[in-house]
Amino acid sequence: MMVKKRILTGDRPTGPLHLGHYVGSLVNRVKLQHEYDEFIIIADVQALTTNFDHPEKLSEDVYNVCLDYLACGIDPNLTTIFIQSHIPEIAELTIYYSMLVPISLLRYNPTIKTEAKQYGYDAKGMTYGFLGYPVSQAADITFCQAHLVPVGADQVPHIELTRKIVRRFNELYRSVLIEPEALVGDIPRLAGLDGNAKMSKSLGNCIYLSDSPEIVTKRVNMAVTDPARIHSKDPGHPEVCNVFAYQKAFNPKFSQELEENCRAGKIGCVPCKKTLIAAVNELLEPLRARRKKYEADKDTINQILIQGTKRAQEEAKKTIALVRDAMKINYFK
Ligand code: SF4
Repeated sequence: MMVKKRILTGDRPTGPLHLGHYVGSLVNRVKLQHEYDEFIIIADVQALTTNFDHPEKLSEDVYNVCLDYLACGIDPNLTTIFIQSHIPEIAELTIYYSMLVPISLLRYNPTIKTEAKQYGYDAKGMTYGFLGYPVSQAADITFCQAHLVPVGADQVPHIELTRKIVRRFNELYRSVLIEPEALVGDIPRLAGLDGNAKMSKSLGNCIYLSDSPEIVTKRVNMAVTDPARIHSKDPGHPEVCNVFAYQKAFNPKFSQELEENCRAGKIGCVPCKKTLIAAVNELLEPLRARRKKYEADKDTINQILIQGTKRAQEEAKKTIALVRDAMKINYFK
C-alpha cells in the first residue's frame, strides 16, 4: 500500500472562521484530505502572540474553530485535528531551533514586518514570542514530519525559514528531519465587504461560516460597490467593486456575464447583490446542516479533539526521540 504524504495546515483560534478562510484554505483542505495524510493544527499558543492578555477566550475559540472545520466537511476519519498547546514537544523543538536562527532572519522577515505593522508593534514593543513565531511554526511543521505545507505566496518566506532550520539541524547533528515543501496555491484573497483589507467582527465587514441567511443578506446589502455608479444605468467598473470579487469567488459561472453587463450599465447593484446573496446562502446551506448536527453534540467534538491530539502526540514522541538522539541529549537511554 502506498503511504500517503503528510501535510500540515491550521489556524490560530482567534474567532469564528469566515468566507475569506473558506476560499483561502478550507475548501482546499477538504479536497486535500482525500489525497494526503492531513494534520490540522489549532494553534492556540500562536494565538497568544497577539492575544496574550485574553487567554480565557481560547477554549471557546478552539471549540468553535473545530466546529467550523467539521461544518466545512473536514472528516475526522481522514484528518487529524489537534491542539498545539497539548503537544509539549512543539515547545521543546522551538527552543532547540531557536539556537539555530539568527535574530536578523526574523527581524527582516517580510511577513513578520507586515504583521507587526498590522498589530501596531514597533521594534521596542514587539514581544519575543511574536518575533519568534516563525521558529515555533517550524516546530509545528516538523514535529509530525510533514512533507508539504499548503500556503499562499505570502507565507512562502516562513516555509523557507523552516527549510533552512531543518537543513541546518540535519547537517549539524544528524539527518532525522524531513525538509518540508510549500504547496503554493493560487489562493483568492477577499477583502472585507466595506473594502477594508482586514476582515473583523468589530468592523462587521465579513460573512462568517456560521452566519444565518438573514445576516448574509444584511452584510451583502451593506457592501461597498463601485463608487462611480450613482444610477443603475451608469457604466460600472467591476475591477474596483468588492461585490464583483465575491461574485468571482462564489458565483464564478455568472461573473463573466456580470462583468459585461456591469460595464455596459445593464445590471444594477441591487439585483447583482441579490444573486450573490443566493450564491453564498446556497454554499453555506450544507455547512449549516452539518453545524447543526455537531452543535447538538459537544461530546463528539471533544472526542474528535482528544483523539486527534493523541495521534499528534504519538507522532511528536517519535520525532523528539530522533531529535534528542541526533543531538546526543538522550542521556538515560
Ligand atoms: S453591478 Fe455588481 S459588480 Fe457592478 S458595480 Fe454593482 S455590485 Fe459591483
